[in-house]
Amino acid sequence: MTTLADVVSVLDRAYPPETAQSWDRVGLVSGDLGAVVRRVRCAIDPTQAVIERAAADGVDLLVTHHPLLLRGVSSIAPSVSAKGRAVTSLVRSGLGLYAAHTNADAAAGGVSDALADALGLTEVEPLTQEEGHPLGRVGTLPEVVTLAALASRLARVLPAAAGGIRVSGDRKAKVRRVAVMGGAGDSGFEAARASGADVYVTADLRHHPALEDREASGGGAPFLVDAGHWATESLWLPRVKALLDEAFGSTDRPDRVETDICTLRTDPWTFTVGAEPPGGDA
Ligand SMILES: [Zn+2]
Repeated sequence: MTTLADVVSVLDRAYPPETAQSWDRVGLVSGDLGAVVRRVRCAIDPTQAVIERAAADGVDLLVTHHPLLLRGVSSIAPSVSAKGRAVTSLVRSGLGLYAAHTNADAAAGGVSDALADALGLTEVEPLTQEEGHPLGRVGTLPEVVTLAALASRLARVLPAAAGGIRVSGDRKAKVRRVAVMGGAGDSGFEAARASGADVYVTADLRHHPALEDREASGGGAPFLVDAGHWATESLWLPRVKALLDEAFGSTDRPDRVETDICTLRTDPWTFTVGAEPPGGDA
């Protein structure tokens, strides 16, 4: 029988917990290491709906990108907080939860590599280092494309998100060298400029940091693409599934583990209005 300990050891090897940022909280959140694992589901967020759906579907282990518990908690009573409800549901249903967060961002084949691959980048290297671990990637497109064409390519490879894809820059500008960072990318502006990238593809960009970056670039390269936090990280899920399938998925194994990807969308945004290009000079 495949145990939770067996699955955790494969995940820890692919996403070593010691490569997570010091503020991060990764690894096993719930579950008994001796428990038998027959079914694993991969998801971005351990929301209540994701946990309840997994429990109802007979999943033994949920592997998520975002940690459930990042800050201190003083109660896990379901009546006190959503985190308490989540923990209680996990324990009551005997569901294991494992998070690979900044360690999955840093890893070869991790979140940013998945984004780089989806764009077809070659000569991919780390964009920068944070606490001694690689963060983001920078690489080269097979050919020069316009900024608008790059954004359209992203729209094709990413799951559709209500927020769409926001771009800052001249739509006809030519781009080839691309910096990427899945998830929140405010921290990568300087590195993207220093890397000589023509465009920085990331997500969750706030007004002031984004505007200051555009000022620092004199309105030129690197242009910015905000492609959505959930969408940019979702590309990693098939990688985790494939990793586990390779380790435990062989059909002739009696202790075979089945895997799937959560079909619930945990992007908090559900619709937008007024997304027409604004009038006036830009
Ligand atoms: Zn994230």
